[in-house]
Amino acid sequence: MSTWQKNIRVVEPYVPGEQPKLQNIIKLNTNENPYPPAPAVVETAQNIDMNRLKLYPDPTASRLVEALAKFHGVKPTQIFPGVGSDDVLSIAFLTFFNSDKPVLFPDITYSFYKVWAAVYRIPYETPALDENFNIVAEDYYRENGGVVIANPNAPTAIYRNLDFIRDILDHNQDSIVIVDEAYIDFGGVSALTLLDEYENLVIVRTYSKSKSMAGIRIGYAIASETLIKAMNDVKYSINSYTMNMPSIELGAVAIENNDYYDEVAQKVIATRERTVKRLAELGFECLDSKANFVFARHKSIAGKTLFEELKREGVYVRHFDDERINDFLRITIGTDEQMERLFELLEKYR
Ligand code: PMP
Repeated sequence: MSTWQKNIRVVEPYVPGEQPKLQNIIKLNTNENPYPPAPAVVETAQNIDMNRLKLYPDPTASRLVEALAKFHGVKPTQIFPGVGSDDVLSIAFLTFFNSDKPVLFPDITYSFYKVWAAVYRIPYETPALDENFNIVAEDYYRENGGVVIANPNAPTAIYRNLDFIRDILDHNQDSIVIVDEAYIDFGGVSALTLLDEYENLVIVRTYSKSKSMAGIRIGYAIASETLIKAMNDVKYSINSYTMNMPSIELGAVAIENNDYYDEVAQKVIATRERTVKRLAELGFECLDSKANFVFARHKSIAGKTLFEELKREGVYVRHFDDERINDFLRITIGTDEQMERLFELLEKYR
């Protein structure tokens, strides 16, 4: 092996869900929202003056940051925007996890966490979920270099209430605790109300799920001013202009039209409840979901078999080959019509 080869950073990358080019498939594999963005977002997009693209965007994304601050009732200096929550989480890992002690997150959670830890050389440990796929709070009572909890968790969809989050925070006053709320708008209660009490809490949100804007790539963190300043210092050490001009505009308009998104979330929740019922009739066990997806296993048919069979029929869901969860399918909640097609295909395994 040549010297330069030895100097190449070797990492095992995160593998995102497929984005197939095929038309006419039913895409229930990456937890996108089946409904369009708010009408005001579409209208604004159609009227953006593309001549403005010759200029750099506002590096502070102030139009977006101020709209988010107003919506959440925090100061603009408490918001850090990024290119999807993946970007925000990545910067948070780089900013906050510089200890020799391991960062803790569950063995079954968003699988990008361990990829960021690996690429940034952050030591980490992954306490196991219990037999019901719940996070065990006591596993996070020991010394650590940071804690990351997705709430609701992914891919289990299980939500833990604020007492649980508060308990984790109370036992981790010496570390940064990241709560990834990618799916919080589908029935959970946000940890936002805990921000004033815990200066070490970082809440991360995304526009990719409840805001129907996965394609524009917007995420953000909400935290104390001290933590947001630290994230900005790291960001400005890598790339000043992360947020492009259209995403700043459209992200602001989206949050200013949040009533629309509340209605969309209610529709998704109603379809989810119907889905859970139908899947039970079809021989599936579903973990309790407060997300825009369900995590379900069939009483007798292997997850991989079902995954492949559905894909052949043009219905894409997500399957993970990890030992503990390989009999589960993660199924995004689509429209009622899309879910009907799924149920129809699953009838033959009943
Ligand atoms: N956190 C969790 C728990 C997720 O499931 C996802 C979606 N893959 C993300 C963060 C990242 O979403 P995005 O980068 O689209 O905001």
